[in-house]
Amino acid sequence: MDADVAIVGVGTMGSMAAWQLAKAGISVIGFEQFGIGNDRTAAGGESRLFRTAYMEGKEYVPLLFEAKNLWRELEAETDRELLTLNGGLTIGDPDTDVMQSLLKSIHEFELDHEILQGKEATERFPQHRLFSEEIMVLDKNAGFLRPELAVVSAIERAESLGADIKRYTTVQGVYPGKNGVTIVANDKEFHFGKVLITTGAWTWKLLPRLRDQLIARRLVLTWFAPKNVEEFQPDKFPVFARMRKGYRLTGAPTLDGTMVKASNTKNPDTVPEPDNLNRDVSIEELQEVGEAVEKLLPGLTPNPVRASVYMDAYTEDDHSIVGTLPGMDNTFLISGFSGHGFKMSPVIGKIAADLITEGETKHSIGHLDPYRYANA
Ligand SMILES: Cc1cc2nc3c(=O)[nH]c(=O)nc-3n(C[C@H](O)[C@H](O)[C@H](O)COP(=O)(O)OP(=O)(O)OC[C@H]3O[C@@H](n4cnc5c(N)ncnc54)[C@H](O)[C@@H]3O)c2cc1C
Repeated sequence: MDADVAIVGVGTMGSMAAWQLAKAGISVIGFEQFGIGNDRTAAGGESRLFRTAYMEGKEYVPLLFEAKNLWRELEAETDRELLTLNGGLTIGDPDTDVMQSLLKSIHEFELDHEILQGKEATERFPQHRLFSEEIMVLDKNAGFLRPELAVVSAIERAESLGADIKRYTTVQGVYPGKNGVTIVANDKEFHFGKVLITTGAWTWKLLPRLRDQLIARRLVLTWFAPKNVEEFQPDKFPVFARMRKGYRLTGAPTLDGTMVKASNTKNPDTVPEPDNLNRDVSIEELQEVGEAVEKLLPGLTPNPVRASVYMDAYTEDDHSIVGTLPGMDNTFLISGFSGHGFKMSPVIGKIAADLITEGETKHSIGHLDPYRYANA
């Protein structure tokens, strides 16, 4: 046996699971096809939003608060600042389903928040143009994460606790058996007690039966220059999600306060072959997001100054898959975070470690059960 557990794919979730498993004293070998913290995974692009008032479902709220604790733990263990809480605005029509879902999460968990509308809202956050039917919801436990540094930090910590991370090593096959799992990587065989598959947008390539359940999608991030830099400093300009028909504009001030990342993440295109992601951004894509920015954030110059392309794995219901695979003993899958997984990655890593070592977790993850795809 080469180690107790193999982790296939050391990006966002794989790095957090490696940290948590190594912390629990489990011997781990991680396989990553690229380098650690590289820009081709779902963790690229400088920042990720952290929010606790959650339009994607109130069942995430306890997970997000546990994730926040674990982000602070990783910061303390690696002496780095990974999460900055500068607040988060969600702006939209309160009668829409997504805003109703957000408000439900706030009320059920009594989250620290403010609801702003009309003149009060635009005086407080003049960077956003507000339409008469819209409100602003300020989530006080929101902000932004440094994703590449977070992945690097988790792996640095995992390695210091004994994890063996094999970089530039592609897993070609995973073969579960009665007494463990065989893995072939860079044409070499390895043997483990259990395997955790955290291959993000590439997952269906290793598990073709999930091709229709885990769809790789392409997301374009874009950055804009403020007309007045002072107005867009992190202490004045919280991270935001702007929900309007046709787009979902999300963004954050850049870490140095000189730019704003504002991207349209609604209805991302399918990527038929994750190894051939189209990284070119078309003029039409740039114009479309520029028009949204011109309409909604008039203090930004509406031509993107930078654009880059990433992928994530999406499920049909936008809830991820976390657990053992039906009919595949000793094989755990964590994938399908549908464009909103980064913020919760440390708690997902902890849950993976719980499931692998104890066979259960205290966290409530019924909505992430792989058995909802049992017939795949
Ligand atoms: C542009 C964009 C913006 C986003 N914004 C937010 C946000 O603001 N807030 C938020 O919470 N979430 C956000 N998300 C979602 C979040 O980033 C993802 O859900 C999360 O990073 C997915 O993690 P993962 O581990 O599943 O995938 P990844 O981080 O991509 O990791 C998968 C890893 O597996 C490796 N791999 C794949 N196949 C193999 C193989 N055969 N052998 C070896 N290695 C392999 C890959 O190289 C990669 O390193 C965003 C996602 C994108 C793409």
